[in-house]
Amino acid sequence: MKRTYFNILCSLLFIIAWSLLPDFTISLLDYVGIYSVVVLGLVVMTGIAGMTSFGQAAFVGIGAYSTGWICTSAPIIEMLEGTGLVSLLPWAGLLLGLIIAGVLAWFLGLLTLNLSSFYLPLCTIAWGLSFFYLFGTLEFLGGHTGMTGIPALSLGHFKLDTSRTFGIVIWLALFFFIWILNNLINSREGRAIQALKTNRLMAESMGIHTTAYRAKVFLLAALMASTSGWLYTHFQRFINPTPFNLSASIEYIFMAVIGGVGYLWGAVLGAGIFTFTKNYLQDMPTHIFGNNVSTEAIIFGILMLIILQYYANGLWPRFARLFNFVSPINNEFPFDKYPASHLSVRQIPASDTTLLKANKVTKRFGGLVANQSISLHLKAGEIHALIGPNGAGKSTFFNILSGVDVSTEGHVEFLGENMFARPARDYAQRGLGRTFQHVRLLKNQPVIENVALGAHLRGRCGWFASMFRLDRKEESALRIEALKQIRRCGLDGSENLPASSLSLGKQRIIEIARALAGQPVALLLDEPAAGLRHLEKKALADLLLQLKSEGLGILIIEHDMEFVMHLADRITVIDFGNVIAEGAPAEIQVNPRVLDAYLGVSDETMASKT
Ligand code: ADP
Ligand code: MG
Repeated sequence: MKRTYFNILCSLLFIIAWSLLPDFTISLLDYVGIYSVVVLGLVVMTGIAGMTSFGQAAFVGIGAYSTGWICTSAPIIEMLEGTGLVSLLPWAGLLLGLIIAGVLAWFLGLLTLNLSSFYLPLCTIAWGLSFFYLFGTLEFLGGHTGMTGIPALSLGHFKLDTSRTFGIVIWLALFFFIWILNNLINSREGRAIQALKTNRLMAESMGIHTTAYRAKVFLLAALMASTSGWLYTHFQRFINPTPFNLSASIEYIFMAVIGGVGYLWGAVLGAGIFTFTKNYLQDMPTHIFGNNVSTEAIIFGILMLIILQYYANGLWPRFARLFNFVSPINNEFPFDKYPASHLSVRQIPASDTTLLKANKVTKRFGGLVANQSISLHLKAGEIHALIGPNGAGKSTFFNILSGVDVSTEGHVEFLGENMFARPARDYAQRGLGRTFQHVRLLKNQPVIENVALGAHLRGRCGWFASMFRLDRKEESALRIEALKQIRRCGLDGSENLPASSLSLGKQRIIEIARALAGQPVALLLDEPAAGLRHLEKKALADLLLQLKSEGLGILIIEHDMEFVMHLADRITVIDFGNVIAEGAPAEIQVNPRVLDAYLGVSDETMASKT
């Protein structure tokens, strides 16, 4: 309710400002709107999904030149003369720009998105430059002089040929983009996008095809840049290659960083501050550093340094706090407004079914043999423990069992199917849930979002549905499922707290809840009890026994011997990558090889852990 009033108030202020402000300010605001559209795409791509592009201006150029060309092309205009369709040409231009930018982004995305670290930004610089030179050399695009005489947009008989009238189109488009992107971020698909930034490996284990998601985010940002180019062309009515060069791309990144690269409204704030400051600085006397030196660029650089030094997350969070804005993260989901739809439910295999089977799995890291021909099977309805000293190769083996890593020799079967070289998401899809020894969570996100991410594969709604809020019933169901698992794992009350605010032990439990939200048939837990207190361990043991009675197969790595001996049906011991014993807890406790290799050094091992 509070939010609704706030929105109405803002809209009223906007309308009043729009009718009163002088023409010059309005046209600056139009530029702010046009730039914001590109920067919004960058916020999603860089701030939320973690990919940096120095080539966005090229996509702006594609949008700008597409409409510029189609709207001024003599043969096309001649052909349409008299049909009344000429006034629709700008819309054809928009479509053409979106198609060209879309196809190119998809193609470039496939080529470059798997590059790691700084190779991706370097590549974006390369094609950003190529397009800029291409615009300047193509004769039919007017070469370096560019194109003039581009018509204004008209709606029926109403020509939007002033900054005040066309500005309405710009800002409506901008608000529309903010709305759909905000919806997207706060959805099942948004959680997946957020996982791309720091947690691709985890995301794949939740069933997310991270390469496809990265390509889609890249495409989205390109389409937004192209739309911005279209707006720019019909606002300026003439174009040349200069605004689409590399320095423009860098300016867009500046805007995103100034505003706060993780915040949608930060895009508008950043574009606003940038545009107004730049305009103000342009009027400054140039004699300070001599006529040949661009004073504005120097002052701007210093300003950037100051902002980055003091506001590493950009100015938006500060601004939002100052005015006490409603948090952009939608914590309180209106469950009563959206009755939950049904999520897919997995059939649990009959007890004793072999779920996971490792056949002579060997894993080498160069000369180091982390796993040496390990065979093991996990059945439905059992708890199987994997123990061994630190560095024995347990976590490595887990990574191979869950598709996070590929074995050098041997293979893993899941429910009878050979899974060799399959990605982790295929394991997740067939019902494998796992946790990580080194916790992998969306740290700043609430616990409920983290757990709901585990239910990713149980939802169906895609990007379009998320953007237009057609996913709300499914989102309701996913959140109810997440809450159910949170309660089941004893984390009630912390659902809306950021994951990183919980103790490390509890963060491990969040990972279990997340795995359970995916309704797994096999569960791999890597040291889940580390960092838990006595009573918490007991609660965890109860939960695992409960899951076992429901028919799950659980493979657990654990150092706490008392915990393991009471819980496990079978134990496999590995040392230096080799299986040295396998059997019931009572047998393992008296096995001389185990006593010698593992329990014999257990005091040391424990000491090294604390
Ligand atoms: P555990 O979980 O039993 O403590 P790990 O599986 O983490 O042991 O490690 C087993 C051995 O493999 C260790 O010697 C470790 O240093 C090595 N290792 C693990 N991952 C890698 C990797 N990605 N590259 C090289 N060596 C690795
Ligand atoms: Mg380990």
